[in-house]
Amino acid sequence: MMIVMKEGATAEQIDAVVERVESVGCSAHLSRGELLTVIGAIGDRDRVASLGLEGAPGVDHLVPILKPYKLASNEYRRGERTVVEIDGRLIGGDHFATIAGPCTVESREVMIDVARTVRDAGAQLLRGGAYKPRTSPYSFQGLGEAGLRLLAEAKQETGLPIVTELMDVRDLEPVLGVADVIQLGARNMQNYTLLTELGRAGRPVLLKRGLSATLEELLMAAEYILKEGNPNVMLCERGIRTYEPSYRFTLDLMAVPVLRELTHLPIVVDPSHAAGKRSLVEPLSLAAAAAGADGIIVEVHPCPDEAICDGPQALYAESFADYLRKLEAVAELAGKTLAAV
Ligand code: PEP
Ligand code: MN
Repeated sequence: MMIVMKEGATAEQIDAVVERVESVGCSAHLSRGELLTVIGAIGDRDRVASLGLEGAPGVDHLVPILKPYKLASNEYRRGERTVVEIDGRLIGGDHFATIAGPCTVESREVMIDVARTVRDAGAQLLRGGAYKPRTSPYSFQGLGEAGLRLLAEAKQETGLPIVTELMDVRDLEPVLGVADVIQLGARNMQNYTLLTELGRAGRPVLLKRGLSATLEELLMAAEYILKEGNPNVMLCERGIRTYEPSYRFTLDLMAVPVLRELTHLPIVVDPSHAAGKRSLVEPLSLAAAAAGADGIIVEVHPCPDEAICDGPQALYAESFADYLRKLEAVAELAGKTLAAV
């Protein structure tokens, strides 16, 4: 339920409503607009209704949110879009950002080299996994804490904020030491304990859509993070499993405009993992930007043929600047601004 306060409602009136909502075991999420304050009462709807808040001092009216996800819904923000700020870089609303880097952190040399390339080309954030979710337990699993240290060096060297994946809550502390955005991988989208911990950690989260998750399931996963009081959640479409075997996953670009109708959260697209193949990455990126994506996360490597993982889908570092110019042109056509704050 959303409780819309009257224009000019006093702090005491707002506090009184929050107190009453909490007195029946529900949580109250405050959203203060320029003129109006709205209180999202999350919990059992009948209990909120039993409070008889219609007509209470300072209350204008009540709006039920019918969707199963509440804080993630467009209704909750009344059409206003969430803009996530990461160390001065903006994603969401009118702002478009590119996250680029290798699949995994492999060595100091490669990490610093890619970091410089993507920074010089104009990317806003640097990606790189220190903990890798691999289908085979015999594949490279990531450098772990040593990888996090290399990411910290790359950040120091280039000033780019870091996006890196957390797979296990036991690694939360070291990951928080370097990550500006914590990535929750597709395979962990419904790991509810991890989602809750990320909500509590408060760091911006890039939440990837599960391989066979519906958009509603994705939004419910986001709700777990939001419910803990972390508003900085970005959704990421990275391809879903379909019956088509000619490519690794099917990039569901329809999810972009559909999510925009359902949620205020920024929508990022990952063409690399969907495609699994370099030649598809640019056309998919341009299509994602044209469809209204708020950002792209893309894999780049100086020598993809020698990459430890996902080399076949990595863009050549030397062609990244050209790629980014085209991507930015399409994002601009779709009405986005690219500049940092
Ligand atoms: C990744 O971005 O490094 C990754 C493993 O992606 P996904 O979780 O979407 O497979
Ligand atoms: Mn990868």
